[in-house]
Amino acid sequence: MNIPFVDLAEQQRRIRSDLDLRIAKVLDHGGYILGPEVAELEAALAALASCRHAITVSSGTDALLALLMAKGIGPGDGVFLPSFTFTATAEVVLQCGATPVFVEVDPQTFNMDPDHLGEMIAETKRQGDLRPAAVIPVDLFGQPADYQSISKLAGDNELFVLGDAAQSFGASYHNRAVGSLVEATATSFYPAKPLGCYGDGGAIFTDDDELAAICVSLRAHGQGEGRYDIVRLGLNARMDTMQAAVLLSKLTIFEDEIQRRRYVAAHYNKRLAGLVETPVQMPGAASIWAQYTIKLPHRDAVAAQLREQGIPTQIYYPLPMHLQPAYAPYGQGVGSLPVSEQLCQEVLALPMHPYLDEATIDRICDALVEAQQSI
Ligand SMILES: *Cc1c(COP(=O)(O)O)cnc(C)c1O
Repeated sequence: MNIPFVDLAEQQRRIRSDLDLRIAKVLDHGGYILGPEVAELEAALAALASCRHAITVSSGTDALLALLMAKGIGPGDGVFLPSFTFTATAEVVLQCGATPVFVEVDPQTFNMDPDHLGEMIAETKRQGDLRPAAVIPVDLFGQPADYQSISKLAGDNELFVLGDAAQSFGASYHNRAVGSLVEATATSFYPAKPLGCYGDGGAIFTDDDELAAICVSLRAHGQGEGRYDIVRLGLNARMDTMQAAVLLSKLTIFEDEIQRRRYVAAHYNKRLAGLVETPVQMPGAASIWAQYTIKLPHRDAVAAQLREQGIPTQIYYPLPMHLQPAYAPYGQGVGSLPVSEQLCQEVLALPMHPYLDEATIDRICDALVEAQQSI
């Protein structure tokens, strides 16, 4: 039997009647844009993230972009980001006219290496072409980045810290919720993320009243007091009401799903410890386990054998950002970020979702170990 990589069908079965009711309600009131569900969702998200403002937007990418625009990041600004990430983290920097500065990641946690960030800030200052303006730590695979070290460096160098929490909403760091860890945070509700809607969606989190007001304006074309009063260059980046209704329904089981994800990760860890390189958690970090990513030699051969047995895997990510054709002009080429480059050769994400049972995890682990031994 084929195992799903992410099982959205099982989740839907759990909430289907509630979903139907909420969607019917939107059809009845007809407020498809910024309907009442959007405000209800924003209040619920702000409470979960323990922060003053949650502003829903049309995607995680737009959440990142709106925050960079709100802070006036643009031409001449250097924005530091890990090279081992999803493309959106780099894309938004260029979208607003700034220049990406690629930073190495830690080989164990896959998150931004603060020591290398310090080196790249110093190097950027020495070269003098760019003003070090912002840093975008990414909570890769659901584990919060090393915010303590990064925030210290950012404070010393007056950098805006924008957390890319597209994969980590629901996680925490030293018992503080993602969304309340730095000045501004962006998350995504893409269907396969730990909290996903049935389309594109995202949210911005901040305690800063002024920044929040600017983001509310930016997501609606840069509106001022009146609808046709355009006070800044904006975006069409609102979340639609249907997606808010879907997310409200999913929130009713989110806490339970977080616990299930942690259980699945713990069971994988138990089964794979000592056999492959299992994911490493930083002290104080409570991951939401968006992905369960191992490192292994002969990754592609192992993945091929698993596929034959109906076990899907994914490679997040096959190429670091500094080597992507679109971003290579801003990087230093092959060999410049060896950890990121090596990870792209070795990482393998195993099926991960809240509805994986022990027997299925055991089957995946047995097949994995067998494949590894046969190579
Ligand atoms: C998914 C993702 C995004 C973008 O989110 P979308 O909602 O798909 O636009 C940004 N950064 C990271 C790290 C992601 O995984």
